[in-house]
Amino acid sequence: MPAQIGFFGLGIMGTAMAGNLVKAGWPVTVYNRTPEKAAALVAAGARLASTPLSLAEETDILIAMVTGPEALDALLWGEQGAAAAFSPGKTFINMSTVPPRYTLALAEELAPLGVTFIDAPVSGTKKPAEEGTLVILAGGDQDRIAALAPLFQVLGQKMVYCGPVGQGSMMKMAINLLLGVMMTGLAESLNFAQKNGLAPEALFAVIGAGALNCGLFQMKKEMLRSGAFPPSFPLKHMTKDLKFIIDTAFDSGAPVPTAHAVLQLFRAGVGFRLGDADFAAVYQVLEHMNSRE
Ligand code: NAP
Repeated sequence: MPAQIGFFGLGIMGTAMAGNLVKAGWPVTVYNRTPEKAAALVAAGARLASTPLSLAEETDILIAMVTGPEALDALLWGEQGAAAAFSPGKTFINMSTVPPRYTLALAEELAPLGVTFIDAPVSGTKKPAEEGTLVILAGGDQDRIAALAPLFQVLGQKMVYCGPVGQGSMMKMAINLLLGVMMTGLAESLNFAQKNGLAPEALFAVIGAGALNCGLFQMKKEMLRSGAFPPSFPLKHMTKDLKFIIDTAFDSGAPVPTAHAVLQLFRAGVGFRLGDADFAAVYQVLEHMNSRE
């Protein structure tokens, strides 16, 4: 009998990822704090659990894709929490973005329960999640991770083994540091160009023609052109990730001066009520900052 899959968290990413598992024929049961969000998945064949605990009781491999540490703590240790049903033979895969320090502490808390814990955040946003082309950044027991390949192949185009548990989260910090800086760089260059009389199309043509061209810039060009920022990766999530990156860097002693500057812009974006917009809306923060003289 195939392993029963339990999926916590049906936000932008979780809905797409759980949907791909259902489409691929895996037996999937889902839980979401707001159960209404499960309707389309249930119509597609998923079962709905009423509590995190019942999800964990009914399934063998549990995946979490929720906002961050607070959400995970609520699901695992809160009322009717899943951890009470964790036991040897079960596997818990956290794919949410959390600080490595949190992942290591969680590994210690879970160890006495005998459950296998895999740390597997993802690189890629809504579209790759829908298309099953995420990059999975896996930390934990290498043999167990290799055994999970058929599951990961449904969710992603590539799995990179990052090291022991915690190093998946560490890789996610490194990648989102680059992502936040690159997005801000594009936004700053565009705002500078426009403020100095250059046409956005001309800037995009120059970027697209040379070594600066990249998938991220191509993907975000349309949002920047139109001024509409429907959330693929919400700005509030990049803000939390930059905070995690800076905390992690403080612990290790790695300098992250650019991340500090970029966090200030994203934090201002939340203040400007852009938290639920896509993180490309950092461009609007810069627009707000333009001198009006
Ligand atoms: P989202 O759309 O905001 O969804 C968040 C999910 O977490 C929802 O299912 C929400 O439940 C649940 N949640 C939040 N607080 C909770 C709590 N206290 N208790 C229980 N459940 C709670 O987020 P997302 O964009 O899918 O991102 C999910 C994770 O993936 C985050 O860690 C994010 O950083 C990471 N990530 C996102 C992207 C992206 O492009 N979006 C890419 C890579 C990684 P409700 O539905 O009840 O609110």
